[in-house]
Amino acid sequence: MQHFPFVLGDFQGAIPDLEEVTRTAPKGTITVESIALTQKAHHRLAHCLFELGRLTDAMKEMETYRSTHGGHQTEAATNLRNKIAKAILAKDGKVTTEPPSTTDSKVLRYEVKVIGHPVSIVKTDTVPRSLCSVYPPEIPTKTFLAQLVKKHHDAIMQQKNWTCWNCRKKAVSLVHTPMSYLHLEEPMVVDFAQPVCVNGGECDKEARKMMDEEMRFATAGGGMNRV
Ligand SMILES: [Zn+2]
Repeated sequence: MQHFPFVLGDFQGAIPDLEEVTRTAPKGTITVESIALTQKAHHRLAHCLFELGRLTDAMKEMETYRSTHGGHQTEAATNLRNKIAKAILAKDGKVTTEPPSTTDSKVLRYEVKVIGHPVSIVKTDTVPRSLCSVYPPEIPTKTFLAQLVKKHHDAIMQQKNWTCWNCRKKAVSLVHTPMSYLHLEEPMVVDFAQPVCVNGGECDKEARKMMDEEMRFATAGGGMNRV
């Protein structure tokens, strides 16, 4: 059961207010509260759009909701997302009973962009075909990305004497931020890796903070326009 601050049937009326909240989301200082507030607005907006039958727009909102870096996902949001996805499939008449294949896999391009170094390391791996869709199952995708990063971490670490992205000391580890493009014809994962001097140290924290802001910027729609 979801609780919304407006009565059922007033979905259309609620949209402008919610759009305003998502548009004016703070881009400078990011707090847990501001992330939660923005996410909540996207979630509610998606719900309104869904009720109005604007399924594609609703899914777009859920995508933004989901990609809010540093945000959390509620069960209600996951349920709504599934409901929207099902409605889209039903509408397109593409409901299949095909079980997800786990053995079948596709070739994956894993590209590691090491921040502060003019290097892009490209590895080839495989990805289960069941994850290669526009709306992949969330938990298996996250698990897959975590395993992929872990698998290649040591080799990348040993490839070069990396220096900390922030203070230029010798790096002891890498902070990974993988972005998945598994739905592409040639599935790809782009991993922004930041070498850090101390695990969990200041430069590590800064790296995570910077990536949070990068992601936020990208999801706000401004990421593509920068040089
Ligand atoms: Zn450092």
